[in-house]
Amino acid sequence: MTGPPAPRRWHAELAWLPGHGVQPDVLIEAAGDTFSTVRAGVPRDAAGAAVRLNGLTLPGLANAHSHAFHRALRGITQAGRGTFWTWRERMYQVAARLEPDSYLALARAAYAEMALAGVTCVGEFHYLHHGPGGVPYADPNAMGETLLQAAAEAGLRITLLDTCYLAGGLPADDDAEAGARPEPLSEPQLRFGDGDADRWAARVEALAPGPGGLLGPGARLGAAIHSVRAVPRDQMPTVAAWARRHGAPLHAHLSEQRAENEACEAAYGATPAAVLDEAGALGPRSTMVHATHLTDADVWLLGGSGTCACFCPTTEADLADGIGPARALASAGSPLSVGSDSHAVVDLFAEARGIELTQRLATGQRGQFTAAELASAATAAGHACLGWPQAGQIAPGALADLVTVALDTPRLAGASAATALESVVFAATAADVRHVVAGGRDVVRDGHHLLVPNVPAALSAAIRAVLG
Ligand SMILES: [Zn+2]
Repeated sequence: MTGPPAPRRWHAELAWLPGHGVQPDVLIEAAGDTFSTVRAGVPRDAAGAAVRLNGLTLPGLANAHSHAFHRALRGITQAGRGTFWTWRERMYQVAARLEPDSYLALARAAYAEMALAGVTCVGEFHYLHHGPGGVPYADPNAMGETLLQAAAEAGLRITLLDTCYLAGGLPADDDAEAGARPEPLSEPQLRFGDGDADRWAARVEALAPGPGGLLGPGARLGAAIHSVRAVPRDQMPTVAAWARRHGAPLHAHLSEQRAENEACEAAYGATPAAVLDEAGALGPRSTMVHATHLTDADVWLLGGSGTCACFCPTTEADLADGIGPARALASAGSPLSVGSDSHAVVDLFAEARGIELTQRLATGQRGQFTAAELASAATAAGHACLGWPQAGQIAPGALADLVTVALDTPRLAGASAATALESVVFAATAADVRHVVAGGRDVVRDGHHLLVPNVPAALSAAIRAVLG
């Protein structure tokens, strides 16, 4: 995403435009990494040498919640029985094996899979900071820099959500009144910990973020509070203050499991949402991931503060987490975004429709969200919650990200222009993505990644190296 601005032109058979729905014959021009002109109704023969985009062209998709290394667990953790907590043990085994070199290969391949699925920006919720035993690398940000490099090499924009992770669990309730300390990190968690929030802040400061956390044209630094489990209440304000000082995004895992809500109530006498609110961690720059087990008061705290709620429906189903009140949150004022989280699958269409389909299952009512609202969660709202509000729509001045979904595949054949967006949101898969442009640069052409030539081979080799 660097180099001198070069004008580019595309002619989309159909494109989804802000405020105008799906329009035919859209001429799209970009200078450098930004759209300059968008005009609908331009006949194909008047589009000159513009690159033809057959199908429905959308803005780039934003994967607002990713843990890149979880990609190695696909299939393995779907075997057998268990809970979120038994899944976590298996995840820790993979974390224990990663070093910067093996993580670079795995993350680059995982991000390349995302690019093939239409993702142009990833929010990487990064907590695997240190070497075995928690010993810092010579460069204490070696792992984070590895992820920045991986995204650049896979052609994605990235927001590195550097995650504060300090404790192994909440204080046991019977000790809480005596001011008991949180549980210490367990052996596999030692690699995640910085000791305290001040040392976390000093480490991330060394990445030298600019305003808004900007690290470069395609990279931004944000902050994350792992969860109420992993960051003691008195440490949270330091992380929130760091994000506020930099105008950077702040993310947190909110209420994924009932057990953590119960432990939080027992330790603090408050829900996770209330604890995070008190710490100054809610607001329009903040995103709460897994807004799953919420009280009505929690919904108003998030909605009233304009806090984004990031849903990861395929992971939330895979881990038997539960179904969060997405409609209530949106109505209360929370923008919604989506993420592939554990990468049980990497398919933002599945995540977007998952919001609506889980609400239907929970309420017995269809049509709680329109296809446009679901598409916005996977585009504009996702980019905004990662600190890129200038991305996620095909409009002059927006970052030049395009995703073209083929409409001649078995899944989408027969789609009409009038309901093409509904067809894509409710029936497309990642395999239907044909072309991807990120920041004005071609990343995927005719279903092939242009920077990582053989994505399956790259994934296979990287996963084999980690799993042994
Ligand atoms: Zn997560």
